[in-house]
Amino acid sequence: MADYHGEEVKNKQVLARDYIDGNPKESDMYFSTNTIRLKVPDGSNAVLVKNLYLSCDPYMRGTKEKNPVRLFNSFAPDSPIVGYGVAKVVDSGHPDFKKGDLVWGVTKWEEYSLITNKLIESLFKIEHTDLPLSYHTGLLGMPGMTAYAGFYEVCSPKRGEYVFISSAYGAVGQLVGQFAKLMGCYVVGSAGSQEKVDILKNKLGFDEAFNYKEEHDLDGALKRYFPEGIDIYFDNVGGKILDAVLLNMRPHGRISVAGMISQYNLEEPDGIKHLLKVVYKQIRIEGFTVYDYYHLFPKFLELVLPYIREGKIVYVEDTAEGLESGPAALVGMFSGRSAGKQVVLVARE
Ligand code: NDP
Repeated sequence: MADYHGEEVKNKQVLARDYIDGNPKESDMYFSTNTIRLKVPDGSNAVLVKNLYLSCDPYMRGTKEKNPVRLFNSFAPDSPIVGYGVAKVVDSGHPDFKKGDLVWGVTKWEEYSLITNKLIESLFKIEHTDLPLSYHTGLLGMPGMTAYAGFYEVCSPKRGEYVFISSAYGAVGQLVGQFAKLMGCYVVGSAGSQEKVDILKNKLGFDEAFNYKEEHDLDGALKRYFPEGIDIYFDNVGGKILDAVLLNMRPHGRISVAGMISQYNLEEPDGIKHLLKVVYKQIRIEGFTVYDYYHLFPKFLELVLPYIREGKIVYVEDTAEGLESGPAALVGMFSGRSAGKQVVLVARE
């Protein structure tokens, strides 16, 4: 790695025009270039990184609601977009990080970022550099940990159970399905296009998959794929799919709610009509946040790394090349245009 001696360099950035409410549009973002000194301020515990990959995630939408679990807002007036990424340490005042370390965690949409204050706590050192670095935005990062916590910890799965996953081709869903298959479950996923359905069945090993946009009777579709009912529902979307699932749960079923992407931007959220089934069928519904499970990260890696190395877990990414392609990639992730976990490649090491 070049020795920068704290020189000043140009730093291309993607900035937000303002706070946003709802899914971002490309016009909510603009490009600018400033300069940055490649050295942390004397005496600070900051970490200066060169960004390599940036992650496009659903939490990056704006919301008027104050969310107590959020560490940061992705959009703030004339500030670089904030989100997860993979980076290389250029200089560090922090005892846990040194120049040359590869890290993943919360960074900014620019070529170089100075990570300060609470965001330093989000940085994880990357130890397993034999695997694609971009995996730490998805499979081996926050979404992967979400899949692990939501499936193993919240759903208490057992061999042979019937598992349904919505937004199954997403960063989280892909992995939940493969965990469930490795556990010997019967697994069905829903996604928003025929192409995604085909990949779920032919590449990711799901037993069945369907395009929810083409099913006008979701209850009927679920009855077709689960004639004996559903034991576990991993919910990424909420709304109408959740309501139809309630009609198809088996007694003592578990519903793990990671998110409800279909509800995030509705003026009037969809009502859930079939909640009474929760009582009759003794169903457990549990929402969770990944932040409560980060202490299990080493256990997660212990499980998932051998599977990846043996090719028993695979992962599909959609990589947009260059910071310039970031805004379109982020917008595309929300609309379902991404062909796999959406990543932006900023720089190769
Ligand atoms: P996803 O890839 O699942 O989210 C993007 C996808 O959602 C789109 O590509 C689209 O795919 C689908 N989608 C968009 N709108 C709708 C809609 N109206 N109805 C159904 N599907 C829709 O993201 P992740 O895998 O990163 O995250 C999965 C879920 O987990 C999200 O809800 C997210 O907010 C949540 N999450 C929660 C965490 C936690 O700590 N609880 C941590 C991380 C994520 P398609 O083409 O299939 O429609």
